[in-house]
Amino acid sequence: IEHLVKSYRRGGQIVPVLTDISLEIRAGDFTALMGPSGSGKSTLLNLIAGIDKPDAGLLRVDGLDIAAMSETDLAHWRAANVGFIFQFYNLMPVLSAYENVELPLLLTSLSRRERRERVELTLAMVGLSDRMDHTPNELSGGQQQRVAIARAIVADPTLIVADEPTGDLDRQSAADVLALLNQLNRELGKTIIMVTHDAHAAARARTLIHLEKGELIAEPRG
Ligand code: ATP
Ligand code: MG
Repeated sequence: IEHLVKSYRRGGQIVPVLTDISLEIRAGDFTALMGPSGSGKSTLLNLIAGIDKPDAGLLRVDGLDIAAMSETDLAHWRAANVGFIFQFYNLMPVLSAYENVELPLLLTSLSRRERRERVELTLAMVGLSDRMDHTPNELSGGQQQRVAIARAIVADPTLIVADEPTGDLDRQSAADVLALLNQLNRELGKTIIMVTHDAHAAARARTLIHLEKGELIAEPRG
C-alpha cells in the first residue's frame, strides 16, 4: 500500500478518512490493526479486501492492482481469495450452520457431494460437527462466530480479514476464536488482518499496526 487516500462523500460534504497510508503486509503474516474509534480501521480493511475503492494511491494484493479492477473482476477475485469475519457474525438467520457455510461454495463449480465434504470438514475444524443443523439463533455467540469463520475459510481463500472478530464475545469464546485464527495462520499459512480494540487479541498477532486519525503512527513491529 502506497500513499493510499480515502474520503467518503456524503451529501455535498467530503469526509476525509485515510489521508496518506503506506504499509506492507507480508503474505502469511498475522497482523492486528488497532486505533481509536473512527480512525479508519474498517475503511482500510474494506479497501484491502476490495469491498471499497480508494480515491488515490497504490493498493496491490498478491501483485494485483485491485483498485484498478472492474467491479465484476473484483467480485470474482474476492470470492476466490478473501474470507470475511465480522463483529456481529453476519450469518443468514434462516439458514442452518451447514447452509451458511455452504453459501460461498454455491458460486463454485463443485458438485453437491464435494460441497458436502468441504462443509463438513470445515465445520469439524471449528468444532461444530454436532451443530450443523442449528440456525444462528440456536447457537451461542462464540459458536456463531465459529460458523462465520468456517464460512470465511470454506472456499480456501489466501487472505482472511476480520473486523473486531472478538468484539462481541466473552473471554473464553474470544480465546477460542483467536486460537482458531492462530491455527489458520500457522498451520494453513493464511494471511490474516484483524481489526481489534482488545490488547489481548492484538498480542496474539505477529505484527501490530496502529492507526490514528487516518495515519499510521507506528511501524509494524513484526
Ligand atoms: P470503529 O473502531 O468505531 O469501528 P473505525 O476505525 O473502524 O472505527 P471507520 O468505520 O473506518 O472507523 O470510519 C472512519 C471514519 O469514516 C468515521 O469518522 C466515520 O464516521 C466515517 N465513515 C465511515 N463510513 C462512512 C460512509 N459510508 N460515509 C461517510 N462517512 C463514513
Ligand atoms: Mg470499525
